[in-house]
Amino acid sequence: NAEDIASPKRTKELLQRHGLVLKKSLGQNFLVDPNILHKIVSAAELDAGKGVLEIGPGIGALTQQLAKLAGRVVAIEIDQRLLPLLQETLEGYSHASVIHGDVLKVELRPLFEEYFASVSGVSVVANLPYYITTPIIMKLLEEKLPLDNIVVMIQKEVADRMSAKPGGKDYGSLSIAVQYYCEPEIVTIVPHTVFVPQPNVDSAVIKLKVRKQPPVQLEDEAFFFEVVQASFVQRRKTIYNNLASRFFTKETKAQLEPILQQAGIEPSRRGETLSIQEYAELSRALAEALA
Ligand code: SAM
Repeated sequence: NAEDIASPKRTKELLQRHGLVLKKSLGQNFLVDPNILHKIVSAAELDAGKGVLEIGPGIGALTQQLAKLAGRVVAIEIDQRLLPLLQETLEGYSHASVIHGDVLKVELRPLFEEYFASVSGVSVVANLPYYITTPIIMKLLEEKLPLDNIVVMIQKEVADRMSAKPGGKDYGSLSIAVQYYCEPEIVTIVPHTVFVPQPNVDSAVIKLKVRKQPPVQLEDEAFFFEVVQASFVQRRKTIYNNLASRFFTKETKAQLEPILQQAGIEPSRRGETLSIQEYAELSRALAEALA
């Protein structure tokens, strides 16, 4: 197998030999610290029966470590210039495949059927390109792919929002969306120094354990998320005001107070104080009243 590449020296040498200048626009901040790689990989709880989808393998530092543990590794990379380099660093790992494409455009279900038909579980493991962190996570979750967990390096600020509990400034529609599908846990906070080049924001590794069952039973998921969105449109406004401007008119808004009461929610509360359970009650009561 090729030599491990997670060191600043080896990374710079590889990039230079292939004549590559990293693209900021693609979020290319490569990991060069073996300890962080180890933390990411061990959080995913891999074994030889498991499959891994990696997003953005870069030059393969994380891919190598995943291939050492998992039975099947598929990595999607948008930057064609990296493909010959990946071929070199993944030499000897025949169960690791690289697909050239944009993760936001690749159809993941057929990919899972093709590559992961015979594994006992699949993880997504990645040091994500930060300019599209949220769209990538939401795509993985909304498509309801058969995943055990998602272990990703992301901006610390986004990790805080994903794992936030009701009542604070970090809690919002992203917290609720992520926690509807998963149980989040911050694995570790990561210093800038583990990347080449170093990003301008703080980073964290987050583990999202994908739920087998959602925490609330919803009749209309899309409407639930619409109510959540509406409740945070103006964070400083009350739940009453946010819902009134989205779902009612001046003439009809007298209906809203009894609906909130029915759901057990004080009209003067702010959206950021409601739990997922309360949003479920609220969307049920609202849907019934508006039907
Ligand atoms: N995994 C490598 C590591 O940890 O050193 C690289 C991580 S780097 C933060 C993000 C990678 O995602 C880059 O290789 C970049 O080219 C790739 N990338 C950016 N946008 C992408 C997209 N839409 N689809 C797939 N890969 C993408």
